[in-house]
Amino acid sequence: MNKVENILKIKGYDKFKCIADKCKFTCCKGWDINVDTNTYNKWREKDNLNYLLDNVRFIKSHRENTYLIKKETKAKCPLLNNEGLCNIVIDHGDEYLSLTCKNFPRIENNFDYVKELTLSCSCPEVVNIISNMKEKVYIDSNDSLSYIEDLGCLKIRESLVNIFQKEDISIENKLILSYDMLFNMLESDDLDYENLIEFLDNYKSKKYIKEELNKYKDYVNKDTIESLKEINSLFIDIIENYRNVPIFKEALKDIYKFAEEINIEKLFKNWKDFNNLFKEYDNLIENCILSKVLSNCVSDDLEEMIILFEMIILEYLLIRHAVFLKYCIKKQISIQDAKDYIVIFSRIIGNNSEAVIEFLLDMFESEIVEVDYICSLTLI
Ligand code: SF4
Repeated sequence: MNKVENILKIKGYDKFKCIADKCKFTCCKGWDINVDTNTYNKWREKDNLNYLLDNVRFIKSHRENTYLIKKETKAKCPLLNNEGLCNIVIDHGDEYLSLTCKNFPRIENNFDYVKELTLSCSCPEVVNIISNMKEKVYIDSNDSLSYIEDLGCLKIRESLVNIFQKEDISIENKLILSYDMLFNMLESDDLDYENLIEFLDNYKSKKYIKEELNKYKDYVNKDTIESLKEINSLFIDIIENYRNVPIFKEALKDIYKFAEEINIEKLFKNWKDFNNLFKEYDNLIENCILSKVLSNCVSDDLEEMIILFEMIILEYLLIRHAVFLKYCIKKQISIQDAKDYIVIFSRIIGNNSEAVIEFLLDMFESEIVEVDYICSLTLI
């Protein structure tokens, strides 16, 4: 008997609508745009579309051949017109768009006969949808996917989601607890499926969670100045290559300059007030993290899963620091700043994860950073 495909969607999925020329972070600029082979062949086979091939470059590699739109990574797509609209859509309709362009910001994950549809926070309209949600983001998946046997990664993701659904734990502690959980699994050497379920069940117990978090309580306010220094230099190193990307320039210019010139002791004076004010955005930021966990944390490889989650933590730290620098300059926080930095760091980290992993390798000689280091940057 044929299996019926079950389609699950993240909350708010059907509300998404691209605002095209009105978008200040258009996805047609600032990164490489892939042309999938099917689309490439459609362009090649139709006489009236042949001219589009002049805009494609071919990259041959030992793993797979890739077609990309011919442009510098930072530059805008040559097919975007001066009104910010796509010439392919105008002249031929969106069925001739490459899959990347047609799908973004939609993300599809397939598990056996279940298709999950989620949205990427790299799109400002998605962040707007999330910011209008009063309740937690969810995908109707936990029960529906439990019948797919042996998919340990979905069980791990379910535990991560459960941690982020909890009401009485701060975001920082949720990040630490989740990272600690993944790290402990790595050290538990090849858990079989039954042992994995048993291990993950621990994280449903309030008592167990309290004990785990107690291990890290000494990091709270331990040396905020040192931690701020470390985050500030991490921030400068990471955005160095992106601060001149045209669509990010405006948002990064003043905070980059400020981060380079500021005396950290002065920054420290603002930290406590900022930290209290920033809590106002907990719901928005937690929902963006949840949305990323649902879209990204689906790897069968535990090390890969840890790196994926590490990227989420890094994004959080950079967003928090960017909003903090803005607060130091303007003496206030605006929801728009928070939303803009969510989009920007989602693109810088999420879409350039290979470059970020290389950066971590250079700095720490490992792609996976120790829990203690994560605590020292997060629990300040
Ligand atoms: S980033 Fe989102 S809203 Fe902006 S152009 Fe792309 S899909 Fe549309």
